[in-house]
Amino acid sequence: MEEIKNVKGTHDIIGEEANAFAIIESMLKQVAEFFAYTEVRPPVLEHSELFVRGVGESSDVVRKEMYTFLDKGDRSLTLRPEFTAGIMRLIVQNKLYVDREMPLKLYYCGPVFRYERPQLGRYRQFNQFGVESVGQANYLNDAEVIAMAYTMLVTIGLENVTLKINTLGDNQSRENYKTALKDFFKDKVADMCDDCKQRYELNPLRILDCKVPQDQEIVKNAPKMSDYLTPESRAKFASLCEMLDDMKIPYEIDDTLVRGLDYYSDAVFEFHYKSSKGNDYGAIGAGGHYDKLVREVGGPDLPGVGFSFGVERLVSVLKDDDLLPDVSNRLDVYMMPMGEDAQKYCLNLANSLRMQGIYVDMCFDSAKMGAQIKRAAKKNAKVAVIVGDNELENGTVVIKNLVTTEQIVVPVEEMIEKVADILEGFEHEHECCCGDDDCCCGEHHHDHDHECKCKDKKGE
Ligand code: AMP
Repeated sequence: MEEIKNVKGTHDIIGEEANAFAIIESMLKQVAEFFAYTEVRPPVLEHSELFVRGVGESSDVVRKEMYTFLDKGDRSLTLRPEFTAGIMRLIVQNKLYVDREMPLKLYYCGPVFRYERPQLGRYRQFNQFGVESVGQANYLNDAEVIAMAYTMLVTIGLENVTLKINTLGDNQSRENYKTALKDFFKDKVADMCDDCKQRYELNPLRILDCKVPQDQEIVKNAPKMSDYLTPESRAKFASLCEMLDDMKIPYEIDDTLVRGLDYYSDAVFEFHYKSSKGNDYGAIGAGGHYDKLVREVGGPDLPGVGFSFGVERLVSVLKDDDLLPDVSNRLDVYMMPMGEDAQKYCLNLANSLRMQGIYVDMCFDSAKMGAQIKRAAKKNAKVAVIVGDNELENGTVVIKNLVTTEQIVVPVEEMIEKVADILEGFEHEHECCCGDDDCCCGEHHHDHDHECKCKDKKGE
């Protein structure tokens, strides 16, 4: 039979990489909770109309990239190309704005789908983690959300990120700017790409995002947003920058940053990170402020601010720079049953260890002791629990410390306690913080005269 391959632009996440995704996502979730955000899980499928109205007809996402289809009941449905519009629908439909404290602080994580040309860091199905803060019009919300994104990146290990920010101004500023852009591009658009011709009609701001090199040359001389801001928008942006300075969050103002989604107004931002190998995965995260989005999906006038990270891109840059958390040493115990009866017995013992939060692996085949020891070593297990005919008969188990090779025979009732003792010893070793070379807490050192500065001295 012919092999069936994955869909172009999708990818399988396996083993260590899947672990990396889980760990990064749980770290991001934890920071979101430190900032008092709670999780929401909107569906992957939404009515297409939501994105046409929410994300905007002039955006590339809606014009070219949506996975849209008619279901068996002839409804036009779309696999979400982003989360924000769905979350606005969730807020409106569930009337979250009625009896809750404002702003609503929500975070989300899951797959999104865009029909883009696959390349480095660009997939057709990828994962986003993001937040929305909805219901309070204060630039300090924008500042807090940017601070949260920055804290998340530092927490997962990305210290040297570049934060680019810009303001798109309020409605009036943007209308002034769009008029200026239309004037500027009027006699140039005929020589530009077909997309730009459409953008000129739908939303000339989008032209600034064009990736065609010839068009980019023309765009270089276009009017700048900063010259068309209303005094209120200019003041708001200045206050935001001041607050970021106060919080010591480094940023660059980039007045070409307009973002690809139509709903933004005032502050917009992007995070970039170049891995030490020089790989450029594009923006690792981006977001901004919006005013009309809740109303656009049928709710009241509520402003909001949010951002979204591309989880694949976070994992890729962390991997490139060797910053992924190491989970290869997680296995605590390898069970080694000798014979079929011992296998059944060990499965029960393994489960009782697992109930205590101990990582246990075992295999139901007839491998000999030597082969099992090799397997345990390959999996970096710290302890082996060995059960053969003798142990079955006597109600005992052999517990072997796979690092020191010491082994003891204990009544099976004491197995959990003894295994836990040995594992605790390993943890103390890891907790050694004295930095000296021959610490009495169990590290291997050279200088014998030093005094251990660890709080957790072994044996005390
Ligand atoms: P956006 O919703 O376009 O603002 O994108 C938010 C983040 O999602 C970006 O900063 C990227 O990190 C990530 N992202 C966007 N498009 C893709 C894609 N096609 N493949 C992988 N990640 C993406």
